[in-house]
Amino acid sequence: MRALNALLTVAAALALPVLVAGEGAARRPNILYIMSDDHAAHAISAYGSVINKTPNIDRLATQGMRFNHCYVTNSICTPSRAAIITGKYSHINGVPVFNRFDGSQPTLAKYLQAAGYHTGMIGKWHLGSDPTGFDYWNILPGQGVYHDPGFIEMGQRNKHTGYVTDLIADFSIEFIKNRPKDKPFFLMCHNKAPHRPWDPDDKHAKMYDDVELPEPATFNDDYATRCPAATEATMTIDRHLTRRDLKYSPPGEDKGPARKGGGIVDLTMTVTGKDGKEVKLTGEALKKWKYQKYIKDYLRCIASVDDNVGRLLDYLDKEGLAENTMVIYTSDQGFFLGDHTWFDKRFMYEESLKMPFLVRYPPLIKSGSTSDGMILNVDFAPTLLDLAGEKVPADMQGRSFLPLLKGETPKDWRTSMYYRYYHYPQDHRVQPHYGVRTLTHKLIYFNKLDQWELYDLEKDPHELKNVYGDPANADLVKQLKEEMYRLKKELKDEDQFQDKQPAAGV
Ligand code: CA
Repeated sequence: MRALNALLTVAAALALPVLVAGEGAARRPNILYIMSDDHAAHAISAYGSVINKTPNIDRLATQGMRFNHCYVTNSICTPSRAAIITGKYSHINGVPVFNRFDGSQPTLAKYLQAAGYHTGMIGKWHLGSDPTGFDYWNILPGQGVYHDPGFIEMGQRNKHTGYVTDLIADFSIEFIKNRPKDKPFFLMCHNKAPHRPWDPDDKHAKMYDDVELPEPATFNDDYATRCPAATEATMTIDRHLTRRDLKYSPPGEDKGPARKGGGIVDLTMTVTGKDGKEVKLTGEALKKWKYQKYIKDYLRCIASVDDNVGRLLDYLDKEGLAENTMVIYTSDQGFFLGDHTWFDKRFMYEESLKMPFLVRYPPLIKSGSTSDGMILNVDFAPTLLDLAGEKVPADMQGRSFLPLLKGETPKDWRTSMYYRYYHYPQDHRVQPHYGVRTLTHKLIYFNKLDQWELYDLEKDPHELKNVYGDPANADLVKQLKEEMYRLKKELKDEDQFQDKQPAAGV
């Protein structure tokens, strides 16, 4: 120790960089990247959830850093995954909708593999093509199923018994256990949960049975000041959740998750009340009942995710890997939890735009810290390459937020972000749109409708009042439009995919 101190003193005097254990190429960090599907930040207690507790996911916040402004650039599963592994927007990586990812292009996994990492991908991949750049992969076919799922392991289809979230953690632990010990590892551990159709495991099936969960503040949004896009969207709690979603079978029909006509939407339902008697529900009462059913199953799926995050963290602790492993927890986008009367995502509104992002890496990140720096899903790849000591490829559109992890915000850090959504009309008739979000405002352009919306996020955090038409905002609108078109140009969005429609069968 004395010798090391002497070396540090000399190095400091000469202003020389010194590599000590845990730093530099000799001991690059392992990376455990845990991503769930459709897990909104407001269903994580570290983000102030009022409807559930996630004690294990929260460990990453108490032992690491919570980002308060992490945003997706195109809020839907497949495009977000493509953006994450390429560090590029949809119009550059070629995946604006549910189309097949061209796996021949450079990716984060390929760069890390070339840099000497042992790379793995386990769970929901959902990019159509087989994973590339991974030494090991074991993925769900397409969306996958919750119970007794099939997996494709390095091209080989296998059937498994058990619950999908448990199996993904099992396989992830096996991957870490079996890794070559002379290399750092990079593992993408991707949950299917809590994606539709929200099938919980037996352990959590009765969780929340005895409680009434609060409805969100915007549960009865009437879209009064919005353009017609909100009204057109087919993802409302009351009119679009199906029998399959609600695990509902009318009296006299087969029990189970609505075996007959699972896609049917009921506007009158006969359900069992708290007193055990059947009651016929419609209108407002039925909407409330559907919300409780939907949100409880969604949160039950998350409870299993949280348990399994705990298993993974415990495994790292037990193996002495916690110190030298960066652990990330995020989701491919946000989700509406009854907000604005919706389930699903897609819109640029906050609940869907915001991604949870919690990260722990003790050598670099102060425990219990938070960052208000605006980060995007296209930043993940540059950041992890930077962390690994690799040069960030010039064609990546994201930027490394390694300085933010150290608690430093560069003076020129972004104060606005560009968003673009394409997928229409499947599956929920959400109109294509693009827009800009700054630290205080959001401007959205529904390009097929030629309609605009403007929200003041400080005065109106729930985005209930579109103030685009207010003459007092004329200057503001002009500035935001300039910023939006500046970003659009800088990111080389030349509307090359504006007419791209979802391909069938992916
Ligand atoms: Ca998703």
